[in-house]
Amino acid sequence: MTVSVCWLRRDLRLGDNPALCAAVRDGGEVLVLFVLDDTLRRPAGPVRPAFLYRCLRELDERLGGRLCVRTGDPARVVPAVAREVDAHRVHLAADHGPYGRRRDDAVDHTLRADGRELARTGSPYAVAPGRLRTAGGTPFRVYTPFYRAWTAHGWRAPMAEPTGVRWARRPSDGIPDDPDLGDVRLPPAGEAAALERLGEFLHGPLRGYAKRRDIPGEDTTSRLSPYLKYGCVHPRTVLAELARAADPDSGHSGRGVHSGHSGGLAVDAEKFRSELAWREFYADVLAANPASAREDLTDSLATMSYEAPGDAFDRWRWGETGFPIVDAGMRQLLAEGWLPNRVRMIEASFVCKDLHVHWTHGARWFLDRLVDGDLASNNHGWQWTAGTGTDAAPYFRVFNPVSQGRSYDPDGTYVRRWIPQLREVPRAMVHEPWTLPDGPPDGYPPPVVDHAAERREALARYEAARSRR
Ligand code: FAD
Repeated sequence: MTVSVCWLRRDLRLGDNPALCAAVRDGGEVLVLFVLDDTLRRPAGPVRPAFLYRCLRELDERLGGRLCVRTGDPARVVPAVAREVDAHRVHLAADHGPYGRRRDDAVDHTLRADGRELARTGSPYAVAPGRLRTAGGTPFRVYTPFYRAWTAHGWRAPMAEPTGVRWARRPSDGIPDDPDLGDVRLPPAGEAAALERLGEFLHGPLRGYAKRRDIPGEDTTSRLSPYLKYGCVHPRTVLAELARAADPDSGHSGRGVHSGHSGGLAVDAEKFRSELAWREFYADVLAANPASAREDLTDSLATMSYEAPGDAFDRWRWGETGFPIVDAGMRQLLAEGWLPNRVRMIEASFVCKDLHVHWTHGARWFLDRLVDGDLASNNHGWQWTAGTGTDAAPYFRVFNPVSQGRSYDPDGTYVRRWIPQLREVPRAMVHEPWTLPDGPPDGYPPPVVDHAAERREALARYEAARSRR
């Protein structure tokens, strides 16, 4: 009996998995392989490895204990496994990230030398990065035209989970125990949990999503990001289920959500779809500009002066700046490995424009702590706020942490949840507790900076950088 290898990476699921279906179509046994790659494990704190191992355990259970886990450099390990089982083909979903591409090319090279084949089918995106181009044939750098092209391109319908597969079993190094997480609470891992959360969201918070997604104190968004990160669910499945939930007549695949009798729900679904498209956009931008993972995408602020991260930056990392919405976000990040998009933007603005620290430092801390930490979405999300990335968010838009708090957390529900000292502070002062007659409550710090002064400083630095161009 021949054996095909299906090497999973960011696609830890059996449903709607084109690479797995391609391996099954080879006709023999299928060995499902995961490689614990030290290069990818090194930069992360404990949260992502823990979530990954839990996803792997769930997958292994679904495979009846046949998931083959090996440890080491994939460029060596994958060809060795292919040799071991004498596989003609190793199937995988294409990885368009800078490291992933290099790694897969190295594996491809060795497999070929052995007379074997690396078969790339699908990607972790509805539309593979690099597929869409502007009318001028260049990669997109602005979201709205990308979104139009992405919608017009469309995507195929999800594929059913293959049945009757003969899973091969080979020795496995085993899935490591979870690293010590302390008090961090993670969402349930794996494909079943992802589909369950998708269903809950589509029949719950989706209604009202367009208006309420920025309210951090309530359960208003999908929280699918960790599942999308590890491919416990494919965005195609999300898009198909979304279309179905918003308009049961729209069928399964379709490009979109039609307005009409679903009224407001169609607007919510459209908004949600456009958010999923940001993930696709940033992956596309990273594929076209691999260096933007570590450096400014544009040189518009090349001469900007920044501060080295110091004490104030440390206080930001641990949620001790004295600005409630900023601290609540960082405490949620430390407790759950996740935070809502609005708060991520507030954090990025605070680091870049109140502390004048280059975005790479904040982005690195996020990647250390986020369960959904994703190079493309994170680093371009930071750059969007920093004014060095796509769409050139105007640098002079400086978030005021007090007015952001008042607008999006008017009752202080969110900040009170994460900062116990603020629980008794009246609504009017909960976002600026230093205005209480006796100053901030015991155990909560005064503001680490004067926001109005730092805003002026940020704008002055910006003007100086512009005049030097
Ligand atoms: P929902 O609102 O339910 O959106 C659904 C999905 O759409 C998300 O799961 C995500 O895949 C995608 N999405 C939504 N908003 C964005 C966005 N602005 N950019 C890219 N994709 C988006 N997202 C990550 O997945 N990983 C990261 O490391 C990450 N870092 C970020 C850093 C900063 C500074 C900012 C501003 C944003 C970052 N985002 C990141 C994007 C976004 O904040 C999260 O995807 C979102 O908050 C996840 O929550 P959700 O699944 O409930 O989102």
